[in-house]
Amino acid sequence: MTAIAVLGSTNMDLVAYVPKAPRLGETVTGREFRTVPGGKGANQAVAAARLGGEVVMIGAVGADDFGVRLRSALTAAGVETAALRTVEGASGTAHITVDDEGANSIVVIPGANGTVTGLEAGDASRIGAADCLLLQLELPLEAVLAGAAAARAHGVRTVLTPAPARPLPRELLELIDLLVPNEHEAAALTGSTDPLAAAEALLHEVPEVVVTLGAAGALYAARGREPVTVPAPRVRAVDTTGAGDTFVGALAVALGEGRPMPQALAWAARAASVSVQRPGAQDSMPTRAEVDPGGVL
Ligand code: ADP
Repeated sequence: MTAIAVLGSTNMDLVAYVPKAPRLGETVTGREFRTVPGGKGANQAVAAARLGGEVVMIGAVGADDFGVRLRSALTAAGVETAALRTVEGASGTAHITVDDEGANSIVVIPGANGTVTGLEAGDASRIGAADCLLLQLELPLEAVLAGAAAARAHGVRTVLTPAPARPLPRELLELIDLLVPNEHEAAALTGSTDPLAAAEALLHEVPEVVVTLGAAGALYAARGREPVTVPAPRVRAVDTTGAGDTFVGALAVALGEGRPMPQALAWAARAASVSVQRPGAQDSMPTRAEVDPGGVL
């Protein structure tokens, strides 16, 4: 079994389903409202656990009703939550609009996630015991740095999803083995809207890059190798929230099981294509049996 540590955010997603997202200053009438557990960290943890990873989640929830629900959603998915602290104040929330095309826009309020500014007792050894550490940018940068340094010190593979996009210090990039931006994040990081050029620019900073391209799949680039494109299965998307997190969680499981990168990427694309056909983030993530009906990765 692949051991995966996730140091990241746990948010309650407050999702408004609308025919068309409002423009600035506009009010639209939506169809439906749901509260669903999310946060990029928790989403990646759930994705990996559903697909057969042994996952520990490091982070914080608030001492509110959302915090209780967020923890139990992780536990229900089989994620270990002993290192998920409950802190005073509100849990993180994400205010999400999903339109009829399945496209989303998101405002994140960090809440409890903002209190995670470093590792606590036991966290470094949890990270050290994993095959892989999954990181995103919804926790304070100090915590992301501390986690990446602990992973590097133990020879654990570090995978960073640079979202939400922000400039990244070289100090952090030096500790990252695999960077997985979507095309918007890749453009924000490099100034290049061409995913291939962006990936090549990012290879100056990290040894391996996967740029996810939505319905167009993903682009994999590694130093000294020809870039590879990974097609996404053609499906009818109803909600792409959490597609990237499903992709990363699945990729971590497959790599931890020793799959070669091209096979691991194809598997991740298959897992993500299942998730976009269903509403929600964690709720939409597939089980292993759904991605591998035949039981073979
Ligand atoms: P994010 O969710 O971070 O914005 P993407 O939109 O690039 O990231 O999606 C991540 C992955 O999810 C893609 O690489 C692809 O494999 C899969 N995916 C996303 N949208 C679709 C879609 N409409 N059809 C099939 N697969 C999709």
